[in-house]
Amino acid sequence: MESSIKDLIKRAAEDLANSKYAVAFTGAGISTESGIPDFRGPSGIWTRDPEAERRSYEIFGKFLRNPKEYWEEALRSPFFSILEQAKPNPAHYALAELEEMGIIKAVITQNIDALHQKAGSKNVLEFHGGITKLRCIYCGCRFPREDFSKEIEEKRIPMCKECGSPLKMDVVYFTEPIPRDVYELSFEEAMKCDLMLVCGTSAVVYPAAELPRVAKRRGAKVIEVNFEETPLTHEMISDYLIEGKVGEILPKIVEEVKKLRERQ
Ligand SMILES: [Zn+2]
Repeated sequence: MESSIKDLIKRAAEDLANSKYAVAFTGAGISTESGIPDFRGPSGIWTRDPEAERRSYEIFGKFLRNPKEYWEEALRSPFFSILEQAKPNPAHYALAELEEMGIIKAVITQNIDALHQKAGSKNVLEFHGGITKLRCIYCGCRFPREDFSKEIEEKRIPMCKECGSPLKMDVVYFTEPIPRDVYELSFEEAMKCDLMLVCGTSAVVYPAAELPRVAKRRGAKVIEVNFEETPLTHEMISDYLIEGKVGEILPKIVEEVKKLRERQ
């Protein structure tokens, strides 16, 4: 590992140890190391199958028009079983450990794979929803998906226990608005934090991409851990970029934080 990267890892550990309220913001890049393909990368799902991209723009409309048809298709995609079977990688565990240490107060993720929770993170805000829950778009309630496994298996429409409306997956589809609760909580965290650790995201999908920019404007330090430079680097939203695999860099940052704490 280059010495400059080692220095940046130490700097990030010091910044984290000195922070009062650190928040992590994660994206697809943290999950590709768990074998989850991204969408637009060289071997991305849509790069290989443009039809799948077209279908993904139609799925929310299909739910609104015909929830039965939606449920017949919703869980059949091969992508869904990849997500279901994926396991957290060292990057997810590192963030969970930083939360356990009291340093990271929340993880805001754009991922729907629930790997942060599987790794032990407690305060996770799923900006684009998640595969382990169902959500009512009419009253906003969420339910564990497993509560409805019988209905789903029998291809019946799961119904909201609060208001009786058809439920959909909690996952936010194209053309679907971000649920108000998670939207507001995420922006509150971005405004409150004094350090944002951006991991595995180029932050180009709005409105999520606004979060590091909000944090920066409010005076927070923004540290980027990404495989390559991103618009956050170029627009100088991030104070510095630690370039490389998040699954290698985050555990090293945790090691350094531990060393700092031992010395205190
Ligand atoms: Zn409802």
